[in-house]
Amino acid sequence: MGLPDLEVKCWKCWGEGVLASEDHGEMTECPECAGVGWIPTADGRKLLDFLQRHLVIQDEEESEG
Ligand SMILES: [Zn+2]
Repeated sequence: MGLPDLEVKCWKCWGEGVLASEDHGEMTECPECAGVGWIPTADGRKLLDFLQRHLVIQDEEESEG
């Protein structure tokens, strides 16, 4: 609700995370999204940075005790 778009479906694999190789018909990891299928937008990256920053701080505090 009211959140900006945090991610967009990968334009290359359309959210599948894998691509069918033309040579052998095998499934290979999509290089655009690294197999995730979704690519974070600028707003999504900010949120990821925010979460990582605070999650790391929490871990450090716990290990110090
Ligand atoms: Zn992809």
